Amino acid sequence: MATLLQAIRGFNDILPPSSQAWAFFEQLIRQHAELYAYQEVRLPLLEKTELFVRGVGTTTDIVEKEIYTFLDRNGDSLALRPEGTAGCVRAALEHGLLHNQLQRFWYMGPMFRHERPQAGRYRQFYQVGFEAFGMADPSLDAELIVMTASLWRKLGLLPHLTLQINSLGSLEARAQYRQLLIVYFEQHVALLDAESQARLYKNPLRILDSKNIKLAALIQAAPKLLDHLDAESLAHFNALQGILNAAGIAFVINPCLVRGLDYYGRTVFEWVSADLGAQGTVCAGGRYDGLVEQLGGKATPACGFAMGVERLLLLLAQKALLPVVAKIDIYLISDSPQAKVQALLVAEQLRSELQLNVQCDCTTANLKSQFKRADKSGATWAIIFSVGELKTATMSVKALRKEEPQQQLTLADSVGFFRQQYSR
Ligand code: ATP
Ligand code: MG
Repeated sequence: MATLLQAIRGFNDILPPSSQAWAFFEQLIRQHAELYAYQEVRLPLLEKTELFVRGVGTTTDIVEKEIYTFLDRNGDSLALRPEGTAGCVRAALEHGLLHNQLQRFWYMGPMFRHERPQAGRYRQFYQVGFEAFGMADPSLDAELIVMTASLWRKLGLLPHLTLQINSLGSLEARAQYRQLLIVYFEQHVALLDAESQARLYKNPLRILDSKNIKLAALIQAAPKLLDHLDAESLAHFNALQGILNAAGIAFVINPCLVRGLDYYGRTVFEWVSADLGAQGTVCAGGRYDGLVEQLGGKATPACGFAMGVERLLLLLAQKALLPVVAKIDIYLISDSPQAKVQALLVAEQLRSELQLNVQCDCTTANLKSQFKRADKSGATWAIIFSVGELKTATMSVKALRKEEPQQQLTLADSVGFFRQQYSR
């Protein structure tokens, strides 16, 4: 036998029944986006590598060590998208959707990062992202956060998630603060781990993001960006907090929340679960007023977030919050080719007239094995079509989940009978 091939590590197959949970989640997201007047965009999975180098930043984990790049047959450097924001801005600029316009977009799809696979961290993973352009006002930042809170409420997740917010201020305020931080960490350089030492001059703010608990005390005592914000950013941050309070959304200010990406300024936020181990962040975002200009457009304020679908589904499963969906109502079995044709016709009628979920047993197995499969399918009813009954234009109906004698119905009665059963 030929050897079996396996999927690439960190790349998951999404199979039944969990694909039902995915479909449920995606449908909910679509409805939710419409409620908030966000419009869907579907963007390529491949972009020029340069887009992410310029858009995400060379000192980020994503570009430094996680991006999947390759030279295509023309020698162009391409990358599988590691995130959605840069591509969204690229597309909006390319199609002239940003200049003097207000836009609200959302997308859903796979992202790719070469990370160490573990629970809640994969190499192909799915994000749902929302991005809004042209609005500098803090009410937009608030809208995005309120929208996520409302989604968690719908899913039953709100009690299991904590909202953390912070402000990264303006580019200038951050540049000054960066110097303060370098001076502070230089004084304690021996205490830093290798990763943080490497970040000291390249991107010292990322040290604050370190997951190494040995650095926690040192990071706690570091100067805080919040104490060095420019006046406008401070007013913006205060306004955001005011709106969140008015909307009754609890939050904690985490002065060490800096986010991994270069393009953020002012508002950053994360929704974090305590029940997913180290992979606790299920949704993260913030304001990126500088990105559009950085990618060649006119300066355009922007704010957005992305949520990790796998992590959210893990949490929903853990809290038993996933609905049971797509059950089979009726399973059709038959004892001969002629009866099978009849079964197919009745199945079509039940689907189109009553919207029932109907499965036909398209095998030539004996009735006993077909009955077993009917039972295993979880269907509520079985209908048996036999050559004998064809002559009298009848069929037999059996309730599979309650003790009731099998009944014989005429073919003409089939829709009427099930309409009555399902109208109760
Ligand atoms: P982390 O700190 O967990 O690496 P991140 O800051 O790299 O997250 P973002 O780039 O902000 O993540 O992506 C937004 C969300 O996408 C994350 O909060 C998370 O839910 C999800 N996510 C990111 N990377 C992965 C991954 N490798 N596998 C699964 N989900 C991921
Ligand atoms: Mg990451």
